[in-house]
Order: sequence, then C-alpha cells, then structure tokens
Amino acid sequence: MRTVGALQRFSRVLVCPCPPPSSVRSWSMAQIRSCSRSSAEKPMPRNSMLRHLTSKIKATGPISVAEYMREVLTNPVTGYYVQNDMLGPDGDFITSPEISQIFGELLGIWCLSEWMGAGKPSHFQLVEFGPGRGSLANDILRVFSQLRGALGGTAVSVHLVEVSSKLSQVQAQALTRDQSQVSAREDEPVYRQGTTTTGLPISWYRNLDDVPRGFSIYLAHEFFDALPIHKFQSLIVMWAQRTEKGWREVMVDIDPDEPGKLRFVIVPAPTLASTQLIQADEVRRLVEVCPEGGIIIQHLANRIAEDGGAALIADYGHGGTKTDTFRGFKDHKLHDVLASPGSADLTADVDFSYLRKMAGATVACMGPVSQRDFLKNMGIDTRLQVLLRNCADPSIKAQLIQSYDMLTNPQKMGERFQFFTMLNHRRLTRPEPEQSEGGEKKAPAPLPVAGFSELGLS
Ligand code: SAH
Repeated sequence: MRTVGALQRFSRVLVCPCPPPSSVRSWSMAQIRSCSRSSAEKPMPRNSMLRHLTSKIKATGPISVAEYMREVLTNPVTGYYVQNDMLGPDGDFITSPEISQIFGELLGIWCLSEWMGAGKPSHFQLVEFGPGRGSLANDILRVFSQLRGALGGTAVSVHLVEVSSKLSQVQAQALTRDQSQVSAREDEPVYRQGTTTTGLPISWYRNLDDVPRGFSIYLAHEFFDALPIHKFQSLIVMWAQRTEKGWREVMVDIDPDEPGKLRFVIVPAPTLASTQLIQADEVRRLVEVCPEGGIIIQHLANRIAEDGGAALIADYGHGGTKTDTFRGFKDHKLHDVLASPGSADLTADVDFSYLRKMAGATVACMGPVSQRDFLKNMGIDTRLQVLLRNCADPSIKAQLIQSYDMLTNPQKMGERFQFFTMLNHRRLTRPEPEQSEGGEKKAPAPLPVAGFSELGLS
C-alpha cells in the first residue's frame, strides 16, 4: 500500500489458524523488522543514480518516463528494489500481506479453490511475481500445509519471479529459513533454489519466461504498479507546418537552471511510443501506458490458455479513467518523483481496462472487483471471528480488528485496491455430459470463482 502517514503503526501479528488460546503468538515489532535496515544503515544510492541518469541524458537526450522508472527501480547496481528492503513500518510503504495474515490465508484458499475448479491437476505450480518480503507466499503455504489432506499426492512447487537478489534473500529467509542455494553464475535462469519450511521445492527467477510451463496459479500483488509507464499529453501542435491535435510524450531532462536537478519536458516531435501506444478512441488529455505490464499479461494469457491455471492480479487501479497517477513514496510520505532518484519508491496506478484489452479473448477475465468485495466474498468476516475466538490477548484482538478495518474499509484500502483474474476458458464451461449405463449423466456445473462470487467450497 502506497499511502501516507497512518500505516506506520501497523505491526503484523500472526495468530495460529485453529489454536488453543494459549498458543496465540504475536511477533514483536523488533522481530518483524529483523530483516529491514534502519534508515541510518540504508545505502545512499541517490547520488550515483542521479549521476548515472544525468550522464545518460547528456549522451542521448531526454529519456522516457518508462526508462527513468526502470533505471530508478531496477538498475542492477543502484536500483531502488535492488538495494533496499522497503516494505513495512521501517521502510517506505506497507502492503496488505504485511498488515494481516488473514489476507494471505484467504488468497491461499483462492489458489486451492482454483486448483479444485480446474479438476485437481496432479502438478500445481504456485507462481508469485514480486514477492516482497515473502509474507504472502508464507501465509499461502501455511494454508496448503494445513489442508494437505485436500491436496493429496499433488506435486506442488513454488516459483518466485523477483528482480532483486537482495529481496530474494529476505524471501528465502522467510520461506526456507535460509536453507536455499544461490546459483554459481549470475545469469542462470534459476538464480536461487531451496525447499520451503513446509517441504516444497522453491525456485527464484528474474523473468516469467524462465518459469517452467505447466498448470500454474499466478499471483501478482502490488507488482504491476511498479512496472515502467510511458506518459503522454494531448496537445494542439505545429507539426510539418500544420497545426494539428497530436500526442506528445512526456520525458525526463536535466533542468538547465539547476544542472543537479531533473525536470519533465514534452518532446516536440512524436516518438515511437506516442505513435504506437495510444488507443484511437482515447478521450483523456493525459495518459499513462504500461507496455511491459501488457506484455506480461499476454504471456500469462497464453500460458493459462495452453497449460491451464489462473492469474490473480491485485493492485491500485482504475478502468482507463485516471490521468496522472505517477507518484513517489518515501518513509510513508509522498515524495517528488524526480527528487533523489533511487531513494524512494515509484509507482503508477494499474489501468485494468488496458490489461483486459491485452489479455484479449485467449482467457476469460473477471473483475476488477474492490478488495472489500473480494475479501468479503472469500469469507474474511468468518475468518476474523475464528481468530478472535481463539485469541486471549486483548491487544492482539485489537490489532486483528484494526487490520481488518484497514483492509476492508472503503475509506482505507477497501475500495482503491482492485482484484482482477484471468482464467482458462474451460474453467467456466460445463463439461460434456458423461455416458453411463443408465443413460446420460449430467456433468456438474463448474465451481463459482471465489472472491468474484461468494466462496462456495463444499
Ligand atoms: N508483493 C509484495 C511486494 C510488492 S513491492 C507485497 O505486496 O508485499 C514490488 C515487488 O516487485 C518487489 O519484490 C520488487 O523487487 C519486485 N519487482 C519490481 N519490479 C520487478 C520486475 N521488473 N521483475 C520482477 N520483480 C520486480
């Protein structure tokens, strides 16, 4: 969650799912933060990042916002994600899985429900994009472990797509208690491998293309908002000695009045991006487009159509209506996106209408629905009651209620956060009737898609 102020007070408590009251555990703030650096220890990459960007601009001219964002966030040496553990109260922002265990548990149920809805395939890959501190995967795997009877002999494996080797270390600590091996060569497609504390094989990749094919449930939580966007503005322009309405790209340049500072400029001529990425029927004056997100969606759609499975994408978003959502966050406060590049998170709201368009007809798309509706449909109220019943400590009870409110309250994360899913078409169609001795046997209706309708697991 990229938000300002109030979230700093959130600490994640873990209440065992069906514990006797005495086994309720809470993590102290110090323990929760054990993997993050204090501000004093944080590396100060901004000078080197600013130097890198200004020499690039001097050499080739203004750079697109997408290139700026890519460099600042994922440059292999000085990138924000590569250098920092930015999540949690000590970092720059906090996310739903870091706020409450219930979030990950309900997503774990969602994964199992989709695996069941697909006819319980014998191999099941859980693939997560940008797993942050590994909290979401950890909560999901705890659910898998508790419901291992339902999974039977299914071969479950875990695959994490993570650009930051620093964060992969944090994830490995959370998921394998650091029992993972790093590849000898930096450029290996699988750069880290191990076994989770629940006994499942786990691997780390930098790209989706390197993840093995097969039935998979893909999760992306606050991942697409970190992908680079291009920004465009619609203007009346003089072009080829004519006045016309045209799209021009917003770029990042050195401020001529202050050479140590960056500024936005609008380039006078069309760019490849401004001619290729704007839809013909676009009515907004300012538009942000995330082509990298579109490409990942297309790859996911093809995989889901060919191998089976589903993708669940959760993020800040809109339906193609917002115009200017590019923001910086540092220490839980808004931060000028061009100031001290590399020291703050950069993000832009996800345009779900664009993702749907890029998915095309290859898969069935549902949503987006609000986080509040999704979690309510998944049974968050019942889950909260169970945890409260099993918890004797009044302060933990209060935290459970507070984090529930943060996740579901429309004024907090309940409405602004959206869930979108892509499914194999077979998942929603009733199978052909089976022929049996007594005549035709009606095939059962497909399971409803949990979260997008009420959870109906029998
Ligand atoms: N999903 C987590 C973390 C969100 S922060 C949560 O909700 O708590 C974004 C995550 O995506 C980080 O783990 C970051 O390192 C990763 N990331 C950002 N850009 C990436 C890219 N291009 N490829 C792979 N991982 C990326």
